[in-house]
Amino acid sequence: MLEVARGALSKMATRLDAPVQYAFRLGDEQIAVNPMIGKTVRLEFLGAIHCSHCGRKTKSSYSQGYCYPCMQKLAQCDLCIMSPERCHYDAGTCRDPAWGEQFCMTDHVVYLANSSGIKVGITRATQIPTRWIDQGATQALPIMRVATRQQSGFVEDLLRSQVADKTNWRALLKGDAAPVDLLHVREQIFDACAGGITELQQRFGLQAVQPLVDQSVVEIRYPIEGYPAKITSFNLDKNPVAEGTLLGIKGQYLMFDTGVINIRKYTAYQIAASCAA
Ligand SMILES: [Zn+2]
Repeated sequence: MLEVARGALSKMATRLDAPVQYAFRLGDEQIAVNPMIGKTVRLEFLGAIHCSHCGRKTKSSYSQGYCYPCMQKLAQCDLCIMSPERCHYDAGTCRDPAWGEQFCMTDHVVYLANSSGIKVGITRATQIPTRWIDQGATQALPIMRVATRQQSGFVEDLLRSQVADKTNWRALLKGDAAPVDLLHVREQIFDACAGGITELQQRFGLQAVQPLVDQSVVEIRYPIEGYPAKITSFNLDKNPVAEGTLLGIKGQYLMFDTGVINIRKYTAYQIAASCAA
């Protein structure tokens, strides 16, 4: 085994290609992961976690990579990030209005994706297709453009009556979802939710809430040589080593013959990555 890098782990960098190209991000280094498929790969937690924001050593990671004080104070760790419809920027109580302006008071896209089945999701316009790849979607289609994160939350709320908003990660790691005609699903949803969409347009303006009808479906293929026979998760907090033959990568999951690991869960952990020659 040859150590390829060590440092603070971030979620893998991705590039849309056929298949998706992945890179480990450890500290300042990026190491391509696709060439490691089929080889023995080892990730070892070196015992320290440093907050992604302040760098302070923390016993546990909160909100994927932060120390407890930062989790309580940073805008990106506020409840409204998980529940965008609860955005309180307009009330003047945003934890960090400058951050809010950059990340929330900006164009968002509502999309349909097929990951472990059809789901609706939201993302900043600039995060396409990264968000889809991080979720392991095999198909995706932008269906609405809105002016703020909060509005995207309202639209998602509305569409949730028609489609799920969660990914079943176990199903995701068992195989590819059956292809779906997302254009057809979009039309069904627009029909079913026409009244609700009109209400949002009356409230925020036609410019703010725009259905997208000219988009095409993006197909995403992942580098996968095989799926694990049985899905067990590595837990680096309990056992610091995850090792096995790397079968493939989907979303932010590495799939080994010995188990799976969600890389994102270990953001800010000090990790050493090794690979057999
Ligand atoms: Zn911190």
